[in-house]
Amino acid sequence: MTLPPNVYDAEPIPDTARAEIDRMLQSGDLFRYTAPENAPVALLEQEFAAHLGSRYALAVSSCSAALFLSLKALGLPRDARVLIPGFTFAAVPSSVVHADCVPVLCEVGDNYRIDIADFTAKLDNVQAVIISHMRGHTSDMDAIMELCTARDIPVIEDAAHSLGTTWAGRNIGTIGRVGCFSFQSYKLVNAGEGGIMVTDDADLVARAVIMSGAYEHNWAKHIDGDDTALRDAFAKWQNRLPLYNLRMSNLSAAIIRPQIAEIPRRVRDGRTNHDHVAALLNTSPWINVPQPLGPEQRAPDSIQFNLVNMSDDDTRAFAQAAAARGVKVQVFGLSADNARAFWNWQFLPEAPGDLPRTRAMLMRACDARLPARLTRPELDVIADALLQAATDVMGEARAYGT
Ligand SMILES: *Cc1c(COP(=O)(O)O)cnc(C)c1O
Repeated sequence: MTLPPNVYDAEPIPDTARAEIDRMLQSGDLFRYTAPENAPVALLEQEFAAHLGSRYALAVSSCSAALFLSLKALGLPRDARVLIPGFTFAAVPSSVVHADCVPVLCEVGDNYRIDIADFTAKLDNVQAVIISHMRGHTSDMDAIMELCTARDIPVIEDAAHSLGTTWAGRNIGTIGRVGCFSFQSYKLVNAGEGGIMVTDDADLVARAVIMSGAYEHNWAKHIDGDDTALRDAFAKWQNRLPLYNLRMSNLSAAIIRPQIAEIPRRVRDGRTNHDHVAALLNTSPWINVPQPLGPEQRAPDSIQFNLVNMSDDDTRAFAQAAAARGVKVQVFGLSADNARAFWNWQFLPEAPGDLPRTRAMLMRACDARLPARLTRPELDVIADALLQAATDVMGEARAYGT
């Protein structure tokens, strides 16, 4: 019999990282600006930008740091209003507060995607937008880009959990003005901690590079070849911006670089795993896994689903029954102090309003990890435990004809 798998462990780091890390341990060369050129962090930036098809990449200490620097690099004034989804991780409103701006929350539907009507209604009063592709679910990027372009509102993509996702064939994170990714251990590429931002905008990246901690003329180590637009932008911003020191260490880059080649396999396996479990869960009358939008190709490493016709008590009982069967599920709106429930963001400078659709979704939306390394029998054990947990709570008979 297959037991419920450990879903928290990450994959081993590719063996090729070892030689490079050994070299660094020997030389002590851990700082990105020590070497005159080709530091591991600089090479990671070139490789990651090439992987996504972006002109520039800047590696930093976390995705939160990348979001913060993106807002600062846009030159938003103090108290600028930034529209974010009501369903995201607390790091997103936190980055807005850190940048001295005010988060404005818009509704998210029960398919975990931005409610475009509410988004449109709130757009005229904001100066920037962060689209958080929460758990890799992609909102309607065609509608969002059209609405924002018409109003000249910059779009930052929080693609922390969306590496490998595409929208109409384009890489998520390359559609807005800037895209931010995370290398924290629960994301597709794992360095423990780390983040990176990508953009085609020379002025924006020059500002972000300086503020990330490229003091004096260290910005020169970010120029690949003969990029005069970038060189001019650095010259323009020299000495004019504060240094926040959010740099990445060479050690992190050495752990990340060999994982870039693993991305396509992880994406492929994660999607196959997810779709297999989703099809099984959708056979239950008590469970609904929302469909992706048409142009979206997902890269999931977890599954989200809504409980149907269950009360709050049924929902709690479902999570308990699943745990008793060896599968841990979090209900975003019911677990105490959950960082993805907007009513727990009590640090917001302005009350977020009621957001009834988002709230209703959070009270029934469940989250279970589904890492790409799981085998088919392990996936079946997880799906079976969840299906049985729903039956434990709601009963077999009530599933039919009542
Ligand atoms: C993980 C995550 C973040 C934060 O990333 P860090 O690298 O830990 O700062 C932000 N947004 C989303 C959607 C995430 O999943």
